[in-house]
Amino acid sequence: MNFEVSDKMKIIISMIGEFVNKELIPMEQDFISKPLKTLLPEIEKKRSMVKQMELWAPNHPKEYGGMGLDLVEHALVSEALGRSPLGHFVFGCQAPDAGNIEILNLFGTKEQKEKYLRPLVEGKIRSCFSMTEVDMPGSNPVMLETTAVKDGNDYVINGQKWYSSSADGSEFAIVMAVTNPEAPPYLRASMIIVPTNNPGFNLVRNISVMGHAGEGYFSHAEILYQSCRVPQTNLLGPEGHGFVIAQERLGPGRIHHCMRWIGICNRVFDLMCSRAVQREISAGKTLSTKQIIQSWIAESAAEIQAARLMVLHAAWMIEKVGASTARKEISLIKFMVAGVMQKVIDRALQVHGGLGMTDDTIISFFYRHERAARIYDGADEVHKISVAKRILKEYEGKRVK
Ligand SMILES: Cc1cc2nc3c(=O)[nH]c(=O)nc-3n(C[C@H](O)[C@H](O)[C@H](O)COP(=O)(O)OP(=O)(O)OC[C@H]3O[C@@H](n4cnc5c(N)ncnc54)[C@H](O)[C@@H]3O)c2cc1C
Repeated sequence: MNFEVSDKMKIIISMIGEFVNKELIPMEQDFISKPLKTLLPEIEKKRSMVKQMELWAPNHPKEYGGMGLDLVEHALVSEALGRSPLGHFVFGCQAPDAGNIEILNLFGTKEQKEKYLRPLVEGKIRSCFSMTEVDMPGSNPVMLETTAVKDGNDYVINGQKWYSSSADGSEFAIVMAVTNPEAPPYLRASMIIVPTNNPGFNLVRNISVMGHAGEGYFSHAEILYQSCRVPQTNLLGPEGHGFVIAQERLGPGRIHHCMRWIGICNRVFDLMCSRAVQREISAGKTLSTKQIIQSWIAESAAEIQAARLMVLHAAWMIEKVGASTARKEISLIKFMVAGVMQKVIDRALQVHGGLGMTDDTIISFFYRHERAARIYDGADEVHKISVAKRILKEYEGKRVK
């Protein structure tokens, strides 16, 4: 494996790093303390600047206005953007749109691509992904209850979803619903595009998560699909292939998330070290002179580096052999990086003492917001079980001496 970063990528990463430091980090205090809508004009200005710099939609297809970077290249971009909660959104590569763009590009019809994919890549509209249900376990999605029943030329969708991130203000949702109840479990569900102005699409509420209901892009909605009628031409990919398509969406998506988490680790690590060398804890002695703090710093540095290399390796595997063959590597990074991030954020917060609990630094935002990393995109436990099963299979019938 070649660890060298191309000259082109070095320039891109350096431009992004400078932009994040100069344009985004100074906006964070307002982002934390003010309603999002008051900040949107400023955010739009920053997005225009990114477009002018030709750094817009780094991972998305060139023919639709993106930069067309490959997965390893975008992993490096995602790390650089992850330093700020505004990074991915301002550069047009935010979840869940990024995943929706991927599957629309792979499975969309010509009409779907023109109507939904093009404006999505251009950042003119937003979208959401509506799979998890209130009453059914997201960890076992074959138990989905939402149905899409054929009626004339339409599907009629009924069901109750939640955690449809960023649904508030979205133009459309990609909904996972059971279309073929008699088929084997993994061939029962389909993905269907549902415009959010459809009378059967009811946004019940933005769920309050860790004390914040959020709004617009930064929110998670509960949605009631009530006799929601859409033309059958809104089916994405073949009928019954919802889970097959979901796999395509989740592989690269995990790389984006994991490298964003590494970006967060880097940011809070910098804050931790900087605080440690500045905070005088007794006459002439800073926190950085204490062995327990040194130990946290050394452990964090090692864990971040190990996690980073694992993610880059998984991205490289996906490029070389495809997401399906790289399933073990994808599951490994999901729980490994989420755990490292949680530990590093926690140590950074602890080093800041009372200040760490306040919203005067970004650490408490990350602490609240990123707890979810161990739950979404497959709970850690589910990934651990899947990895262990794969590993143990290799030992079946083998006697190790
Ligand atoms: C911030 C956030 C954003 C999200 N965004 C979206 C989105 O945009 N679209 C969408 O559709 N969904 C989204 N989700 C939902 C997410 O995918 C689900 O929460 C997740 O799949 C877990 O499902 P569940 O919440 O129903 O938990 P459950 O399935 O009820 O599991 C609960 C817990 O049980 C444990 N567990 C589960 N299965 C096993 C097992 N086999 N063995 C041992 N332990 C197990 C795990 O610890 C798990 O956390 C989001 C969630 C969060 C928190």
